[in-house]
Amino acid sequence: MKIDQVSDSVHVVAGTNVNWALISDGSGITVIDAGYPADAADVLGSIRQIGGRLADVRAVLITHAHLDHIGAIPALIEQVGMPVYTGTEEVRHAKREYLQQITPTGMLKQLTTERGRRWVAHTLRAVHGHIGTAIPQVEAVEPAILAALPGGLVAIPTPGHTSGHTAYLHPTEGVLFSGDALVTGHPLLPHVGPQLLPAVFNHDEALTFDTATNLARVHAHTLVPGHGVPSSFDGPSIAAALAATTE
Ligand SMILES: [Zn+2]
Repeated sequence: MKIDQVSDSVHVVAGTNVNWALISDGSGITVIDAGYPADAADVLGSIRQIGGRLADVRAVLITHAHLDHIGAIPALIEQVGMPVYTGTEEVRHAKREYLQQITPTGMLKQLTTERGRRWVAHTLRAVHGHIGTAIPQVEAVEPAILAALPGGLVAIPTPGHTSGHTAYLHPTEGVLFSGDALVTGHPLLPHVGPQLLPAVFNHDEALTFDTATNLARVHAHTLVPGHGVPSSFDGPSIAAALAATTE
């Protein structure tokens, strides 16, 4: 794991091909996303490494309920018992009332490239024994709850990658947590920079594109994606990079 501080209160942690973020102020810590199941010890360890205690965690926010974003939540619920929130529609996904994720066929197709074979091997190790993880305790986040948590965040519905995908904005520090609605890299992507995840991961590709284009209009200074390195946020160049992929 690698920890980067990107603003006064925000640390971003890179785990197994995926990021989570910790927002820490005098009133406690908000955790955004929680790695793969195999990252659970690192998620807990990262809280201590930034000088926090598990008891300081006030809430976990989920951008979306894919296994690489919810892995440590069962351990956090057991040890801390804090609430878990996500967007209203994503609640049903996190409870596994339905599942929108890469299909077994989509995984198999990755085995035709070296890059893909490495990613499949990493992924199978990272989810081993926890493929059925669900978060039955999750609740729909409300603006007043979010505003009162460390970070004073605002939720931004960002459907496409999953139907209920939700991004979060830290308005005072200008940090946009885009989850998988807009990323800057991924083991299956040949280039770094703002872009969509490969289509095989997106439930609705056209909606994913429109959502990312809308996100480029948010007022922010820093982009914290679910995959890839954090970067400065330049809306016009993000929009241009997205538009170039359709040409
Ligand atoms: Zn995802």
